[in-house]
Amino acid sequence: MDQVGSGSMRVRAALLRDRGLRVTASRLAVLDLVEASEEPLAHHDVVEKLNDSPWNRSTLYRNLIDLTEVGLLVKTDIAGVARFERAGRHNGCAEHPHFVCTDCGTVTHLDGVVVRVEGGPLGQQPAAVAEGRIEVQLRGVCDTCIPGHA
Ligand SMILES: [Zn+2]
Ligand SMILES: [Zn+2]
Repeated sequence: MDQVGSGSMRVRAALLRDRGLRVTASRLAVLDLVEASEEPLAHHDVVEKLNDSPWNRSTLYRNLIDLTEVGLLVKTDIAGVARFERAGRHNGCAEHPHFVCTDCGTVTHLDGVVVRVEGGPLGQQPAAVAEGRIEVQLRGVCDTCIPGHA
């Protein structure tokens, strides 16, 4: 158990060094946490999960941004909240649209759903649209919030 743990820590430390980041305990902990998570994590999730750690909110935020800037994490804005996940993850949040409930704010990951943006006068769209650097978000009322839906 200890062996496995320290082994993967060494791998993560090497990843940080490769990207030119100084290896710190908080960066390792944040990377480990995001990597182990099934869902992309927002800053407040990270703060909550590491609340018995010695690091404060702004250190943890800085860590998320540093790891994103060197390409180890990917930041996706979902429903106005920045969420972080491991780069290169299969079916990452940049690859599928999200359904956001306008009532309760619940986010559903629409795995495998493709929404294409096509047409329109060329050259009159923001570069991000042409290059696909956009987030697709569908807004509506979720099943739980539909009046009369049990
Ligand atoms: Zn997603
Ligand atoms: Zn809802």
